[in-house]
Amino acid sequence: MLIATVRDYLEAVKSGEIKAEDFLPEAIQKAERIQKAYSPFITIDKKARPSASKGPLYGLPVSIKDSICTNGMQTTAGSKILEGYIPPFDATCVTRIKDSGAAIIGKTAMDEFGFGTFSTNCAYGAPKNPLDIERSCGGSSGGAGCITAAADFPHIAIAQSTGGSITAPAAFTGTVGLTPTYGRVSRYGLIDYSNSMDKIGVISKCVYDSALMLSVISGHDPLDSTSSEVKSEDFTKHLNSDVKGMKIALPKEYFSSGIDPKIAKLVRDKAERLQQLGAKVEDVSLPLTKYAMPAYYMIALSEASTNLAKFCGLRYGLQKEIQGNFDEYFSKIRTEGFGEEAKRRIIFGTYARMAGYRDAYYLKAFKVRARIIDEFKKTFAKYDALITPSMPILPPKFSDISKLSPIQIYNMDIMTTAPNMAGMPTLSVPIGKIDGLPVGMQIISNHFMEGKTIAIGAKIEELK
Ligand code: GLN
Repeated sequence: MLIATVRDYLEAVKSGEIKAEDFLPEAIQKAERIQKAYSPFITIDKKARPSASKGPLYGLPVSIKDSICTNGMQTTAGSKILEGYIPPFDATCVTRIKDSGAAIIGKTAMDEFGFGTFSTNCAYGAPKNPLDIERSCGGSSGGAGCITAAADFPHIAIAQSTGGSITAPAAFTGTVGLTPTYGRVSRYGLIDYSNSMDKIGVISKCVYDSALMLSVISGHDPLDSTSSEVKSEDFTKHLNSDVKGMKIALPKEYFSSGIDPKIAKLVRDKAERLQQLGAKVEDVSLPLTKYAMPAYYMIALSEASTNLAKFCGLRYGLQKEIQGNFDEYFSKIRTEGFGEEAKRRIIFGTYARMAGYRDAYYLKAFKVRARIIDEFKKTFAKYDALITPSMPILPPKFSDISKLSPIQIYNMDIMTTAPNMAGMPTLSVPIGKIDGLPVGMQIISNHFMEGKTIAIGAKIEELK
């Protein structure tokens, strides 16, 4: 029997029409076939079975980005330095997913520690875009986007974003990516990239699936002091909310030079359709947008460089026989274990935090962030949501990415760094294709207003 959607599958399991225990081995076989073609996984659990409890996601295949700890299953954050690390505990989101009855089928490929926009900084190989294998799946959660796009079985992916790692792969693989408000989902058990910006979220085939999964993983967690007290809710209830009367703004800085004009036009066309449905759509200006990318990288890399200090070949992952003194041993492990981009970021971040530079760089970037949050807050006092392209370009070819400088790559995050550093929820939805390649639209809302992004995203989905 062909079950196309998560919703149909869960209903069929609930009614007894399908037995999850029979279905899962078939889903895993399919996942293995997809792995051979596109490499979305670092680890596949061939024995994945539904968890003991009969929760709302009973028997649903779920994949987890490899930076999120899974008890007894290798967790590398996409880095050689964590090869062989098997956490003795589950991240809180994983506990909640298991409690819901879902089955964890594997861990997905990613840029090392989340450092990238194209999933080309992966120690275990770059996932290939199922729509064109010469092209990137986006990053850093590229494996999550890849398996979601390729899965010919019901499945939802858990991903993570610091500065755009959910939106980018969702846009490039033609899937839906939900990045929640900072603090909405517990970070306990996430291998930190940049603590003040990391968010765990969802990549899925449709808006319903993302809303459903957010309902399961969100909510306060005493194990994460930055997790918010705001209660979880049934986010699927927003799917049918009307957009009539909603006020939506198109920030002009997100439609200017550097953005593929065909993408900008497609997004504007969809905004017009929302207007026809009764939303009020206006142009606005967010002049601080241009500072977001540099300030983001300053904060992200400063925090990353301290977070990576604990990977030295003693506690986790890669270990060797200790020769020479500890400094020599640490250097050897870190030289071998970290990839080129991780090394670049450690050096950059350490420099930015050095005595004498700290005020000029790291702390200044925090001030910029406070101003950007303020700019968003003022805009959201007047508007329900902002609409922008998800990415400024179509999914690029690997051969073209290899010609880009690090700064050119960082510049590809211009759509996503501002909302991500401000902790705003965003939803990326597919809005069609250009030259056969998928295009995403990003809907940004105020803190804890995920419901509004879901309502708009669901309408956009219906328009297709
Ligand atoms: N491309 C951005 C970076 O490299 C965002 C990555 C992420 O969100 N993890 O930092």
